[in-house]
Amino acid sequence: LTKEQGKNDFQIFTQEMMEKANETFSLQRDLNRALVNNEFELYYQPKISAKDGQICGAEALIRWNHPNLGMIPPNDFIHLAEESGMIVPIGDWVYQEACRQLRRWKEAGKEQIKISVNFSTLQFLQKDLVKRVASFLEENDIEGKWIEIEITESILVHSDQELLNKVIELKKIGIQIALDDFGKGYSSLDYLRKYGFNTIKLDRSFISDIDTNEESAAIASFMIALGKKLNINIVAEGVERKEQLAVLKKLECDELQGYLFSKPVRIAEFEKLWM
Ligand code: C2E
Ligand code: MG
Ligand code: MG
Ligand code: MG
Repeated sequence: LTKEQGKNDFQIFTQEMMEKANETFSLQRDLNRALVNNEFELYYQPKISAKDGQICGAEALIRWNHPNLGMIPPNDFIHLAEESGMIVPIGDWVYQEACRQLRRWKEAGKEQIKISVNFSTLQFLQKDLVKRVASFLEENDIEGKWIEIEITESILVHSDQELLNKVIELKKIGIQIALDDFGKGYSSLDYLRKYGFNTIKLDRSFISDIDTNEESAAIASFMIALGKKLNINIVAEGVERKEQLAVLKKLECDELQGYLFSKPVRIAEFEKLWM
């Protein structure tokens, strides 16, 4: 490498970095206005009961309809919203919108449906989280048991008594707590003892080869058996093929979610799945 080339490489590198920083900055700025501009939308993905093949729940998944960039998936903006703290008002909106949708579905006669919402760590740092969650249930005349809050273990690694208390308080008002993406990170079994989860969602990464990889199947089998002992509902994420479904049925997994049944869809499309 000549001195000159080295210099150019360095310039290209910084140029890219600048562009990246500018992009991030403008997305961050746009994100601040997205709520008031009504640019967010919830898509819903069905959860299927393995026993009867019926839809037993729906996971609410946020989408950002950006005025210039089009639809932005959550993995491209949730971390920005977490950095700026915007995730707190956005998370509030998601939860409130999900409650309103649940109310509409209950009124339309779908009495057994449960809605799951994803919560970020920052939302759990709010002092009055439980109070506000409870007041919105009341406002919509919903029992807590029809709402499930999905958290990932990234919340739990900050583990402190305050967080644990909030989980306990939420459970007291009937809210269900799910551990999302189990099997992706540390997946400590100690969490299961401490938090009393109602549901564990087995991560897509090892559901993906459950029909071809004996290790993946053995772990799933173990988790499903453990779930039965501990009375924890086990959900398989990312079920895409019939072969995976066959294994999960044989192992008596409780609930299934994945493209094999449906992608996350708009409300009108979700309702068509019922007819
Ligand atoms: P997650 O909660 O683990 O949600 C599952 C993700 O996997 C969703 O991606 C879903 O579309 C996708 N998925 C479902 N079935 C399949 C499948 O069969 N194959 C494949 N390849 N993918 C499947 P999505 O909607 O892009 O969301 C990504 C992540 O963003 C979520 O992961 C969640 O962590 C986060 N997220 C989404 N909505 C919210 C929200 O309202 N608040 C917060 N804090 N996070 C959210
Ligand atoms: Mg989730
Ligand atoms: Mg997940
Ligand atoms: Mg995930």
